[in-house]
Amino acid sequence: MKKIITIGEIVVEIMAVETGNGFRSAIPLIGPFASGAPAIFIDQAAKLGQPCGIVSAVGNDDFGVLNVERLRNDGADVSAIAVHPTAATGSAFVCYRPDGNRDFIFNIKHSACSAIGLTPAAEALVETADHLHIMGSALFSDGIVAAIHEATRGIKAKGGTVSFDPNIRKEMLDLPGMREALGHALENTDLFMPSGDEIFLFTRATEEKAAVAELLARGIKAVVIKRGAKGASYFDVSGETLAPAFKVEEVDPTGAGDSFGAAFVTCWLRGMAADKALVIANATGARAVGVKGPMEGTSSMTEIEAFLAARNLSGV
Ligand code: ADP
Repeated sequence: MKKIITIGEIVVEIMAVETGNGFRSAIPLIGPFASGAPAIFIDQAAKLGQPCGIVSAVGNDDFGVLNVERLRNDGADVSAIAVHPTAATGSAFVCYRPDGNRDFIFNIKHSACSAIGLTPAAEALVETADHLHIMGSALFSDGIVAAIHEATRGIKAKGGTVSFDPNIRKEMLDLPGMREALGHALENTDLFMPSGDEIFLFTRATEEKAAVAELLARGIKAVVIKRGAKGASYFDVSGETLAPAFKVEEVDPTGAGDSFGAAFVTCWLRGMAADKALVIANATGARAVGVKGPMEGTSSMTEIEAFLAARNLSGV
């Protein structure tokens, strides 16, 4: 089976228990939960039984232990997660507003994550990989960008593949070097996985079909657009395959895109047809939004099969 790797932040998330208006007064919190978009992605791939690993860094603290043990227990290769001697594991505080928007306070840039680089252990992991998944949220430090460039080169040189989820928060777009890093990722991408309108950050076209056509003409093999509660579409040279989302109660949207992405990439690497891969990925995303906590809703293939069977569908 093909081995997937990703490079990027591992953090803990601590969330407000009730919806509210931010953190300007004392409120009940729950957590820490294992989190970080690349960590959620790799945990989901591991749970589906795909060989996979992550290049990352945590602090020498309980938050780091919680994350590394979680990923290890779920089957991910954790050999390239460095333990930083002085910086703490990254953290994110999240409060949901009654209108569904979220307030975040991130402590990532100055945490252990900012020291992520290609250590000898990371180089060894990259050597064993067939596929690199790049997440835009990870491109916040020069060291990570350089590591992703190096890994991209290595994996492409041996005929491997790259997927790219821009997963970008608007405020990150103005970071120095960010647009170049996104452009470099796109240039090397086989499977591009934006959500909603993100595709237009990468194209001159302002209409979706034209934007997809522009990307396919630039050599991207396939584009998957995540559409939240509307499901997802797969596009390649033969056109669009649209798969509606499953009807579930949305309890916590964090992690849905990362879980969906891991499921789709896993199915794609296993050679599954796009329509089936979309059904499995939509089921994975639906299960993720139904559970509180960023990584608490990741699924095994048995759980996905049961979710589909309950709806008179089958997965593989
Ligand atoms: P991102 O988190 O990257 O913006 P989306 O919000 O589009 O990604 O979610 C990814 C996938 O998760 C969707 O394509 C869909 O399959 C599933 N999903 C997201 N929100 C819901 C929802 N409310 N109900 C059912 N499925 C959902």
